[in-house]
Amino acid sequence: MEKIIEEKKQGTTIKPIQKSGNTRKLYIESYGCQMNFSDSEIVASILSKEGFNTTSSLEDADLVLVNTCSIREKAELTVRKRLEKFNAVKKTRPHMKVGVLGCMAERLKSQLLEEEKIVDMVVGPDAYKDLPNLVKEVDDGRNAVNVILSKEETYGDIAPVRLNSNGVTAFVSITRGCDNMCTFCVVPFTRGRERSRDPQSIVEEVNDLWNRGFKEITLLGQNVDSYLWYGGGLKKDFKDSTEIQKATAVNFSQLLAMVAEAQPKLRIRFSTSNPQDMTMDVIETMAHYNNICNYIHLPVQSGSDRILKAMNRLHTRDEYFKLIDNIRKIIPDCAISQDIITGFPTETEQDHQDTLSLMDYVKYDFGFMFAYSERPGTMAARKFEDDIPHEIKKRRLSEIIEKQLAHSLYRTQLHIGKIEEVLIEGVSKKSDTQWRGRNSQNTVVVFPKENYKVGDFVMVQIDSCTSATLIGTALDYSENN
Ligand code: SAM
Repeated sequence: MEKIIEEKKQGTTIKPIQKSGNTRKLYIESYGCQMNFSDSEIVASILSKEGFNTTSSLEDADLVLVNTCSIREKAELTVRKRLEKFNAVKKTRPHMKVGVLGCMAERLKSQLLEEEKIVDMVVGPDAYKDLPNLVKEVDDGRNAVNVILSKEETYGDIAPVRLNSNGVTAFVSITRGCDNMCTFCVVPFTRGRERSRDPQSIVEEVNDLWNRGFKEITLLGQNVDSYLWYGGGLKKDFKDSTEIQKATAVNFSQLLAMVAEAQPKLRIRFSTSNPQDMTMDVIETMAHYNNICNYIHLPVQSGSDRILKAMNRLHTRDEYFKLIDNIRKIIPDCAISQDIITGFPTETEQDHQDTLSLMDYVKYDFGFMFAYSERPGTMAARKFEDDIPHEIKKRRLSEIIEKQLAHSLYRTQLHIGKIEEVLIEGVSKKSDTQWRGRNSQNTVVVFPKENYKVGDFVMVQIDSCTSATLIGTALDYSENN
């Protein structure tokens, strides 16, 4: 259950994209959150103009890039193992260059170059437009580094090369960085302060995706509810903006409405929501537009008020319950998923029980659950000892996962007997005679193919389920088709 979908994607490389005239080969591997996978599409776009086609074969590559994650220690260890492998390949391909992108690049800065000497290039998440210069540097035999974080950069002007695309669903980045300063989290240090992308460029990208046949987009940010466009600049500087900037600013619910109206047949999702920033107008906008899916990823991290405070999550357990009640009142069939961290410093058995009882109240549809991993430089690492023994973290995590599995089964069973609209994304992983798609609530649905095709919206009668998958029979095309 733990990050089922995301775990499978870790380290995936990309389908080869060929542009005629390009002669060099780029191999790029991505780890971590969806934002990194989206960033790799920006990087491929920038380097395609510099003569690089992508390859899925490491042994053919002239340039190897690894887009890294620092969120937990395990993520960094995985990347280090891959760097060892890249260095082994380099021995047989001495001209091959290796670069580290993303959060590890930002966190470790030049350490990987100067002390460990295991890479040629280090590029932080806000420096990808500098890649053409950095590649020239390494071509000339020098190491290259740019880890400058930006106040403005959103890559709104770069058309991403859709890499592992199914041609049906795509991610559209709307904010970068994060201002929340959750004490456990490395993101504000590796991705910088929060800034939003121009809504016009977002709508243009969405229109372009629709025109190219895409049927669903997910608006992406560390904290989408905090989206605020007032002409550019950091969210924290909004208070100093002019009266006219304040009057014409666009917030997240307005952006959602703009996108929903721009393409009324396109399905819209968003991730991630933060309880402290999610407002009623977002929930009302979701209810108002049929094409905004009934699904909210709403990480809670802990069910204990004391731990929430220590994590600097700016809401209480009761406030979270009120938000859940409001969502259920306004959108009764809305699916809700969680992120939970177990074993945060000082967590007692009672705090753990509070998390379990919070889960019983919400009965989440899905969940992504993690044992606390101390990250150097974060407030939690500075303030608290990582004092929960590994065995206890592991036991609490398995209790949480077990509960989530029971709740997922309960929620999934509620769909049986209903007729639901499903967008077909591809062939079922278990049977090539079945299609695989998702309903509005983001649950996977499989059903016999008949004459339908990828990208069709189909009404499916739900007949049975497992804890994570609905099994059904197609009845007809939906009105949206
Ligand atoms: N911005 C979102 C939020 O704060 O709600 C998600 C950010 S993070 C990329 C995804 C998840 O990783 C978090 O929600 C949290 O559950 C988990 N995470 C972050 N830092 C962690 C840490 N130090 N140890 C364990 N899990 C962590």
